Amino acid sequence: MSRSKSVLTQLLQIFPQWRPQMYFKASLTALSHAMEDQVLAGSEQPLVIASFQRERFYRQEAQRYRRIAQKSNQVYVLAAPEAEFKNCSQEYETIAFAPDDTLTTEWHLVVLGSSYASCLICQEKGIPGRQQMTASVDNNRRFEGMSTFDRQVTQYAAHILLDTIVEYRPELKEKVQIAREKYLPPDIASQMVIQQGETDNTTWDVTHNNPDPFVQRLVTYLQAGQYKLLKANRSLAAKEQKERLINSVTTAIRLSLDPDEILQIAVQKLGEGLGVCRCLVYRCRETDTTATIEHEFLNQGIASIKGQTWPLKHNPLFQEVVELRDALTINNATRDSRLTDTAEEGKLSGKSLQILVNSCSILSWMLVPILYRGRLLGMLELHHCGPKPMTWKEDDVGLVNAIATQIGVALIQAEAYANLQDLNEQLEALDRTRSNLVAITGHELRTPLSTIQVCLESLASEPDMSPELRQVMLNTALQDAERMRKLVQDFLTLSQLESGRVEWNIEALNLHECVELSLSNVRARHKETPLPKIENRVKDELPLVKADGEWLVEVLAKLLDNACKFTSEEGKISLEVSCNNPYNLEVTVADTGRGIEPKRLETVFDRFYQEEGALRRSAGGTGLGLAICRQIVRGWGGKIWAESQGKDHGSQFHFTVPIYADQIPSQISRPAMSHSHQLRKKAKGKSKKTS
Ligand code: ADP
Repeated sequence: MSRSKSVLTQLLQIFPQWRPQMYFKASLTALSHAMEDQVLAGSEQPLVIASFQRERFYRQEAQRYRRIAQKSNQVYVLAAPEAEFKNCSQEYETIAFAPDDTLTTEWHLVVLGSSYASCLICQEKGIPGRQQMTASVDNNRRFEGMSTFDRQVTQYAAHILLDTIVEYRPELKEKVQIAREKYLPPDIASQMVIQQGETDNTTWDVTHNNPDPFVQRLVTYLQAGQYKLLKANRSLAAKEQKERLINSVTTAIRLSLDPDEILQIAVQKLGEGLGVCRCLVYRCRETDTTATIEHEFLNQGIASIKGQTWPLKHNPLFQEVVELRDALTINNATRDSRLTDTAEEGKLSGKSLQILVNSCSILSWMLVPILYRGRLLGMLELHHCGPKPMTWKEDDVGLVNAIATQIGVALIQAEAYANLQDLNEQLEALDRTRSNLVAITGHELRTPLSTIQVCLESLASEPDMSPELRQVMLNTALQDAERMRKLVQDFLTLSQLESGRVEWNIEALNLHECVELSLSNVRARHKETPLPKIENRVKDELPLVKADGEWLVEVLAKLLDNACKFTSEEGKISLEVSCNNPYNLEVTVADTGRGIEPKRLETVFDRFYQEEGALRRSAGGTGLGLAICRQIVRGWGGKIWAESQGKDHGSQFHFTVPIYADQIPSQISRPAMSHSHQLRKKAKGKSKKTS
C-alpha cells in the first residue's frame, strides 16, 4: 500500500491561494523541537502526529517521543522502516509506511491540543539521490511547505494524516476515531470539500495566526544563517571541484613524457571536467601561420574538427591572445565585434572568421595560451556550440589558465627529456668511437714501435752484423719512426678540427696558385720515388675563392698524395677546377689507379679506413687523411665526395670551395693575389706541421 499524493499537495488543493515557504533542515528541526517542547512543558493531552521520512531520522528523536508519550495517549509516529521500525502499539503508535510512499519525501508534525494547535507540513526539494549524505549535504537539505499555528489548517492536516494511519493500520480505527472526536470538528470531511470549492484570490500567509513572534523571528534568523551557509558550501564545493580537476589533469599529464599523450590527456580531462562541447589543444609558436588540430575532446553530437588547419597569423583572436599573453573569451560569437568587423589589412575579416565559427558551430569561445616563461608553446580552446550562448565565468577562465600552465611545464619537461635522450645517444656513440679509436690508435702505434724495437735490439746485440744489413735495420727503424710521427700529427690535426679548436683564417684565394703550391709540396715529398704523370688542368683565370689558404693546400696535397700512392707509375693523375654555379668552384683530383668499390665511396672518409682493413695495414698512410680533408672542407661550408667506377677503374675526388662573395655574380678574370707569397710561406709551415 502506498500513496502518491503528498499531504502538502492535498492541503494546497484545499487552500490554492497559499504560497509555500522554503525551509532548511535546521529551521525545521528548530520548529519541530519548539512544538514538541510545548507539549512537554504543558499539561494538556494533545494529539501528536509526527511523520519522519525514514527510520534513521526518527531514531534521533525516539527518546523525545517516549517522553511525549507520557503526556498523551494519542501519539502517532510514522516512518519508512530501514532496520527495526515496524507497526507497533507500545508507549505510542508506530506506523511503518511503504518505502515508495510519498511520505518518504515529507516531514510532518501535527500538534493539536485544546489551547494550542500547530503544524508543520513540508516536502523535501531535490532529494539527494545516490549522493553520499555527508554532514554538509544533510544540513543543506531544503524543504518546501508551511509551518503554522492555525487551528483549522492543523485540523485538516491531522485529518489527512489520521486517514493515512488507518489505511496502514486498520486495527487502530477505533483509537483514531476517539482522536477525531476529541480533536477534530465532526464535519471536517465535508468542510474540506467546501473549502476546496471556495475561491479566494488573496494570498494567505499561513503563518499569520502565529501567536509567537519570537518563534517567527527565530525561524527567520535560522533561515538566513542557513542560506549563507548554503552559499558558502556551494562556493567551497565549486572550489573543491576545480582543485580536483586541476589535480587530476596535473597528475595524469605528469605521468607521461610523450608530448602527444600529454596533450590528449589534458584535452580529454578538461573537456570532461568542464562539460564543454569541444575542447582543442594544438602546439604553435607566435610566428606560425597555421596550426593543425591534432587533439580534441568532443561532447556527444558535436562534429569533429580534428586534422583541420586553423588560421593563426591572420586570425585577430589568436593575435590578441599572443599580444595579451592571456586568455580571451567570447560569450556570444554571433554578436562579438571581432567576428563581425571588416578586415584590417593582413587580417582575416570578421566575415571569414564568422564562416569558420559557423562551420564549427562555435557559439561561445575561450582561447587560453599555453606559455612557459613567456614563450608560447600552444593554445587551448574551449567551444560551446549552443543552443544558447554561455557566459564564461572568471572561475572557469582561471581553471583553464591553471591547467594551461601545467601543460606548459609538462611539455617543457617532455622536451628536456627528449633532448636528454638524444644527448645520451650521442654520448654513447662518442663513447663507442672513443673505444674504437683507442684500440686502433694503440695498434697503429704499437706496430711501428715493435719494428723499431726489434731493429734497435738486433743492432745492439749483433755487433758482427754486416754493414748492409745494419743499414737496412736503421732504414726500417727510421721509416717506422716517421710513420709514427705522421700518425700522431694527423691524429692531433683531426682532433683539433673535430673539436672546433681551429682558428680559420678565411681570405680571398687564387685556386691556381694553391694547386701549384700543393703540387710542389707533393713532388718534394716524393722526390725519391717515381710518380705517375700529373696533369694540371687548372686555369689561371678563375674567380677567387673564400677559404683558409693553409688548409686548402693541405686538402689538395692529401688528395694528390693518395692519388700518387694508389696509382702506378704508368698511370695518370689530373687536376681540374670547374665553375658550375655562381656560388662555388668544384675541384677534382682524378687518377687512373686502383679505384674504390662503390659501396666504399662514403666509408673512405671515416677515420682509419683503409681498404686493407684497419688492423692489417701495409706501410704508408695513416687512414686519417680523408677524414681530415672532410673536416677542413666542412669548415668553409663546402662538400667533399669520391667517385669511382670500381676496382682498377681509377677514382675521382671532388670538393667545393665558395667563391669570394664580392665577385658574385660577375666573374673576375684575373685575381690580384698580393698575398700569394705569404700563402706560400704559410702553406710550407702547415705542411711541416701536418706531413
Ligand atoms: P691513407 O693514409 O690510408 O691514405 P686516407 O684517409 O687518405 O688514408 O684514405 C683512406 C683510404 O681510402 C685509403 O687507405 C684507400 O683505401 C682509400 N683511398 C684514398 N684515396 C684513394 C685513391 N685515390 N684511390 C683509391 N683508393 C683511395
